[in-house]
Amino acid sequence: MDMTLAGIKALFDAKGGRQYSGEPVSQLEHALQSAQLAEQAGAGAELITASLLHDLGHMSNDMGETPTLHGIDDRHQFHGVSALKGLFPEAVLTPIRLHVDAKRYLCAVDPAYWASLSDDSKRSLELQGGAFSAEQAAKFIAQPFARDAVELRRWDDLAKAAGKTTPDFAHYEQTMRACALRM
Ligand code: FE
Repeated sequence: MDMTLAGIKALFDAKGGRQYSGEPVSQLEHALQSAQLAEQAGAGAELITASLLHDLGHMSNDMGETPTLHGIDDRHQFHGVSALKGLFPEAVLTPIRLHVDAKRYLCAVDPAYWASLSDDSKRSLELQGGAFSAEQAAKFIAQPFARDAVELRRWDDLAKAAGKTTPDFAHYEQTMRACALRM
């Protein structure tokens, strides 16, 4: 089934209230906080949309809450992108696809980064293959949209603040509309 903007809304309505793996926010709050941080940083509609939807794969491919506790990598970055293919351009899809590798990249190039990760992010990092080597990191960052994925990752890591006020989902529906390839 092809995803639509209405389908995205329906997915958040159905599953957005769930707790975001081991963090004090729901999936919806995490998505809105990520998008808000992108917007406040002056990102364009594509990267704000990618930030809003980067964890859609946790909801579209439902493996329950905190799969890392069971030693499972849900590979949500790929499920999210396959759900959104055709609806958004690569400037949205690729940062989503790369946001997990961006964590592996940041662990390789920024010594303080690993220590700043939450317990669940550290646990999933190991399931996702651990920090990149210097060679892997160089190869990663040379890809198109890799720098956007790294920015998204920084917002993702910060978007876990309990009770933070954000714009509502309707606000970001406008942003999604601005860069969607179809409705
Ligand atoms: Fe996230």
